[in-house]
Amino acid sequence: MSSDVTQLPRKQLFDLPEGVIYLDGNSLGPLPKGAVQRAQTVLAEEWGQQLIRAWNTADWMALPQKVGDRIAGFIGAAPGSVATGDTLSIKVYQALAASLKMRPDRRVILSDTGNFPTDLYMAQGLISTIGKDYELRTVAPQEVADAITDEVAVVMLTEVDYRSGRRHDMADITRRAHAAGAVMIWDLAHSAGALPVDLSACNAEFAVGCTYKYFNGGPGAPAFIYARPDLVLEIEPALSGWLGHDAPFAMEPGYRPAMSTERLRVGPPPIVQLSILDAALDVWEGLTMQEIRTASVALCERFIAEVEARCPQLTLASPRAAAERGSQVSFAFAEAYPVMQALIDHGVIGDFRAPDILRFGFTPLYLDEEEVVRAAEILEEVMTTEVWRDPKYQVRARVT
Ligand SMILES: *Cc1c(COP(=O)(O)O)cnc(C)c1O
Repeated sequence: MSSDVTQLPRKQLFDLPEGVIYLDGNSLGPLPKGAVQRAQTVLAEEWGQQLIRAWNTADWMALPQKVGDRIAGFIGAAPGSVATGDTLSIKVYQALAASLKMRPDRRVILSDTGNFPTDLYMAQGLISTIGKDYELRTVAPQEVADAITDEVAVVMLTEVDYRSGRRHDMADITRRAHAAGAVMIWDLAHSAGALPVDLSACNAEFAVGCTYKYFNGGPGAPAFIYARPDLVLEIEPALSGWLGHDAPFAMEPGYRPAMSTERLRVGPPPIVQLSILDAALDVWEGLTMQEIRTASVALCERFIAEVEARCPQLTLASPRAAAERGSQVSFAFAEAYPVMQALIDHGVIGDFRAPDILRFGFTPLYLDEEEVVRAAEILEEVMTTEVWRDPKYQVRARVT
């Protein structure tokens, strides 16, 4: 593939509104056309006509594992090592609880201050349930490597920072965690589908992620959890729901975990959402993550160059070196909120992250270089005309 190819020929597979440049696929991916068809079939034919029989006749029961295996292919994981369902927050909780059980003599969960709040909140909630002598310790992202001491039971980090796009070195930090005797959990929310991930090589015990971002699974799409295959039978599930039981339909009074990654399932699989996700993953057929990465880096580099040339008011808030970034670019500006509202109103959808970040996600599945340049031109217009000062752009919506 030549380096000037920045858009892979997939845009026609998405249903994108006219006149919108979508730079927010890192928060909620757009609608793949195949998802509409699939949802229609699941609702009208399977649920509507087959009713409860569809669990068998439409093979709904196999869907969580089938989709898990497809996700495994994107993150360098073996088939059978990824369970799907629930939400990312719940998967974080499960991975943390299992990790603490694996290191009963240690009391510290180590994370960084840049982590996504819910990951830290789930750790706080778990600690408040199990006892006061546990501690969530957070340090600045660049200080994590040196903070992995032998008090640490588990290191929980997000590879790509949701605000800045800054990347941790997964292989290096995992090696350090293991050298100190700690368990490693990676949150791949902004990695899966964005850049190549090699979980098998990195050897982390757990990884978690969501599928409504780069995988385009739609709002409320199921999360996933990876467990290193050699550890699965050691894991004591904290959320011992019946779908993680070895024989759910035996209706036994006592919990007995499944003898596979399925023990990390909790409740019934969200069939409609899983079906949509399954169809959304078809968009990737025939593409490698390396091709995606090459195109994504080219788009990000072009955007940075255009915005820096056109908008001197904005400060790059992402690492300048492509290798240290995920598939997003952020700029800081004190009035970032109204600027983003004005930008959205002018056809460029990105997002705002408190307190002062304009964040743009780049997804070469449906974005090309021309649109990226056009987005920078519109941003320049918003900045130079100061149209963002209009009071209508100051009103804060519930979701920002
Ligand atoms: C998006 C994101 C989440 C969201 O978790 P949900 O349970 O899906 O709301 C959590 N962690 C990180 C790092 C994220 O980027």
